[in-house]
Amino acid sequence: MTHMIREEVKDDLLSRGYSRRQMLRTAMMFSGAAAALSFNPEIAFAADEDAAGAGLVRIGSNECWTGPMAPGLAAGNAAFANANRYSPNGEIEKLIKAISTIENVPADHIAAYPGSGGILARTLVAYCSPTKGLVQADPTYDNPTRVAKFLKTPISNVPLTSDYRHDVKAMLAANPNAGVYYVVNPNNPTGTMTPMAEIEWLVDNKPAGAVVLIDEAYIHWTKEYPNNTATHLVRQGKEVIIARTFSKIFGMAGARVGYLMAQPDVLKRVTIYEGDAPSIPTAACATASLTATALIDARRNELIQNRAMTVDYLTKRGLKVIGPSFANMIMVDWKTKTAKEMGEIYKSRGVQIAGNRWPSWPTVGRISIGSKADMEAFFNASSKILT
Ligand code: PLP
Repeated sequence: MTHMIREEVKDDLLSRGYSRRQMLRTAMMFSGAAAALSFNPEIAFAADEDAAGAGLVRIGSNECWTGPMAPGLAAGNAAFANANRYSPNGEIEKLIKAISTIENVPADHIAAYPGSGGILARTLVAYCSPTKGLVQADPTYDNPTRVAKFLKTPISNVPLTSDYRHDVKAMLAANPNAGVYYVVNPNNPTGTMTPMAEIEWLVDNKPAGAVVLIDEAYIHWTKEYPNNTATHLVRQGKEVIIARTFSKIFGMAGARVGYLMAQPDVLKRVTIYEGDAPSIPTAACATASLTATALIDARRNELIQNRAMTVDYLTKRGLKVIGPSFANMIMVDWKTKTAKEMGEIYKSRGVQIAGNRWPSWPTVGRISIGSKADMEAFFNASSKILT
């Protein structure tokens, strides 16, 4: 397995306090897509449930209710026809260029990977160690927790504020000498936003050598995009990493593509480990989807309507909906039953929702927002369950 790690990477890991054994575990993590995927709880969840086989309505994994956008599919298919070539037409370079134009971030500040989960893992390996911990909100996306446990990195879980923002001051106080401060905006599982001024405060006050990892997996779902992203911090040369994915609004979770944006020194630190690039058809599909502005807007509007309808339905039933959510998910407090129990009850009625993933909120479950038909099926099941 050691052949998977370059000498400079070995030296770096050992000098930062990783043991030889942990170094090998790190190699294992990047030794194949399957290993990195196993850290992704949305994927693990989707696979465990075998929802397709069971014919369930799938609103449990924050996926998009529909597939790639038409121009993306056309470009992906065309690239597939030329997939006898390793790089038929510079597809990866074109993707980086398209991201650079849309995000107004130089191309040498961007790297693409098969999904953003691997980017989170790389960031933890690069900036955390047995002594440099991970600081994150609670509840938040649980992939970094899994990676940190695997790496035996200390974890600080800091409750969200009472209005569901990341509590940036408490995050810094929880570990003033951490390696990674992880901010998910909008947050998964709550869909809530943390104001940019608070993220900027964290960036300006974090210890030197640490990085603020800003996970914007759901940012395209917000009406304010692109005015609410953290890309200006990358342009300003701050020690931040922005992670993005095509798994959400672009409907490409199974195609596997994501990217990171960071100033070149930071980018170098996280891209030094071995790893794959997205496949050529996937990259072509992503490039064509990025510029399909009207289709992105239409998808966002559809989500906003379906989300409002769902919040309205649950509120009228007297349930507490956490929010406001700006993403394709909401959380609901079932109060008298645990999220795990409710997940099983909904499953028996043909609907897959998420539960049991956020131990600090045992009675709160997450419902991904799907198509109008998906949500109507959810209401129909709910009318039998919430009596
Ligand atoms: N970040 C957040 C906040 C997520 O919710 C997810 C998946 O659901 C990911 C990253 C990983 O997505 P992917 O690896 O599919 O790009």
